[in-house]
Amino acid sequence: MTDGSSTTAPPVVEFRKVEKTFAAGTPKAFTAISDVSFVVEDRPGYGEFISIIGPSGCGKSTILNLIQGFPDVYPPTRGTVKVRGREVTGPGRDRGMIFQQYSSFPHRTVLENVRFGLEIDRKSSLSAAEIDERALDLIQRVGLGGHEHKYPHQLSGGQQQRVAIARSLVIEPRILLMDEPFSALDEPTRYDMQRLITELWHDVEATVFLVTHSISEAVYLGDRVWIMTPHPGRLGAIFEDIIPPTRDSDPMEVQESSHFKRAVAEVARVFTEIEATER
Ligand code: ADP
Repeated sequence: MTDGSSTTAPPVVEFRKVEKTFAAGTPKAFTAISDVSFVVEDRPGYGEFISIIGPSGCGKSTILNLIQGFPDVYPPTRGTVKVRGREVTGPGRDRGMIFQQYSSFPHRTVLENVRFGLEIDRKSSLSAAEIDERALDLIQRVGLGGHEHKYPHQLSGGQQQRVAIARSLVIEPRILLMDEPFSALDEPTRYDMQRLITELWHDVEATVFLVTHSISEAVYLGDRVWIMTPHPGRLGAIFEDIIPPTRDSDPMEVQESSHFKRAVAEVARVFTEIEATER
């Protein structure tokens, strides 16, 4: 996070004193987040990876949904949300989202699912052959080569999440929003997915926001780890570069190291402290 004076390009994402009150003005009014401000600068050639953790219900998904411009959540009740210098008015192809639930179309094959984002992009000038080529390349890169013509129900949970990742990345978003994407997966598969996401993230140079309830995952993947306060959520603590960059390192090996475990213990300590003092 910087004061915004070091680069000329507008910040990738900027929140200024953002509040979101659901059902505002009714007896059911509920303030999910309050006074959230942050700036994520554009770092050319390097997308940042921001992990967001916090107690359940503190507004983590609300922050992602505001960045996405998701109609159920947008606009904020107060404050401004800007993406690349412009106020968000709705979803855009510069932002991709991956959820915990496998979100592929059940009646489309892997290839058809991955192709979909490019087909609906009216601005795209790609021919059908080029669309296929790009989709097949991404299917290879997420490790699903040979599964192109299968339907989602013929795939494991981890494979279905690979389809979702390929679908999001094929449109080359500048921002990737991931809401507990690996929570439903068993531990070995989670490690596989963490390995995959670090590889792809460096290739696509997107800025990534990851919501997770796993402190280890947050520390392993994030350049920065944000801890939110209990409701209404605010940013309670920020860790930067808490472990050395993990590119080309094995997730299991890193996460078994004493250095990594100390970092996780420190984040967990602050997490607990914030939870206790804010209640
Ligand atoms: P988290 O991701 O940290 O678990 P959320 O951002 O999903 O939290 O939700 C924050 C709070 O706002 C929760 O109490 C949730 O019930 C509430 N909330 C989320 N979306 C809506 C909505 N569309 N209408 C009313 N309340 C909502």
